Amino acid sequence: MIEMQGVFKKYPDGNDALKGINLVVDQNEFVYIVGPSGAGKSTFMKLIYREEKPTKGQIVVNGFNIGKLKQRKIPYVRRNIGVIFQDFRLLPKLTVAENVAFAMEVIEEPKKVIRKRTNEVLSLVRLKGKANAYPSQLSGGEQQRVAIARAIVNNPSLIIADEPTGNLDPETSWGIMELLEEINFRGTTIIMATHNKEIVNKMRKRVIAIEDGVIVRDQERGEYGYEV
Ligand code: ADP
Ligand code: ADP
Repeated sequence: MIEMQGVFKKYPDGNDALKGINLVVDQNEFVYIVGPSGAGKSTFMKLIYREEKPTKGQIVVNGFNIGKLKQRKIPYVRRNIGVIFQDFRLLPKLTVAENVAFAMEVIEEPKKVIRKRTNEVLSLVRLKGKANAYPSQLSGGEQQRVAIARAIVNNPSLIIADEPTGNLDPETSWGIMELLEEINFRGTTIIMATHNKEIVNKMRKRVIAIEDGVIVRDQERGEYGYEV
C-alpha cells in the first residue's frame, strides 16, 4: 500500500532530510520508525500524507503517485489517511464530539451518518461520557484518544502516528498502544514514529531505523536498538 523508490527530500534551506529511501509497506502492517532526533522520521511521515513533496523519487500510496498529485486530488488521498501527533492538535473551541464530527463534515457526510459514526468511534476509544467536554477539560491521554477517534472516523486504510505517546506518562501510553493495536487488528495499517524503547521492545513489530536520512535497519519483530 506504500511504496517508495529512491526518495530524497531536500528542504529549501538546503537541509538534506532524506537521502535515498526505498521501502514497501503492505496493507495491515504495524511499523515502528525509530532513530535519533533530526534523522528524518517526521519528514518521512510528512511525505506519506503529502504534507511535504519529495525532491526526487517516487512515492505510491494506495495506488496514487503522490509526488505527482494534482492539488485538487490531495483531499482524496488524505481522506484515506488518519494522522495523530504528539501534541494532539484538537480544535480548542469545539467539543469532543464536534472535533470528531468535523472530520466528517469536511467531506460532506450526511448529518445522520455523522451522528451515528461519532458515537461509534467515541465508544471505541471509551470516551462516550466526555462527548460534550472541551479538550482543555480532558487529561492528556483522553485528548489523544479524541485525536485517535478523529483519525479513524472516516475509516482510513492507513494511520500515521508521529510520537503519539511523547507527551504521556507510561501507563497512559500503554492505553494508547492498546487502542492502536485494536485499530490495526481491525485492518488498518499503522506507521508510528517513536522514542519509546519499552513499547517497541514489548510489541515486537516491524522496526525501521532511520539515521541521517537513510534506512539503516529494517527488521521483522524488531527492537528499539538504541540506549535511551
Ligand atoms: P526527526 O523527525 O527524525 O527528528 P525531521 O524529519 O524532523 O527528523 O528532520 C530531518 C532534518 O531535516 C533535520 O536536519 C531537520 O532540521 C531538517 N528539517 C525538518 N523540517 C525542516 C524544514 N521545514 N525546513 C528545513 N529543514 C527541516
Ligand atoms: P491524568 O492523571 O490522566 O493526566 P487528570 O488528572 O488530568 O488525568 O484528569 C483526571 C480526570 O479529571 C479526567 O477524566 C479529566 O477529564 C478530568 N478533568 C481534568 N481537568 C478537568 C477540568 N478542568 N474540568 C473537567 N474535568 C477535568
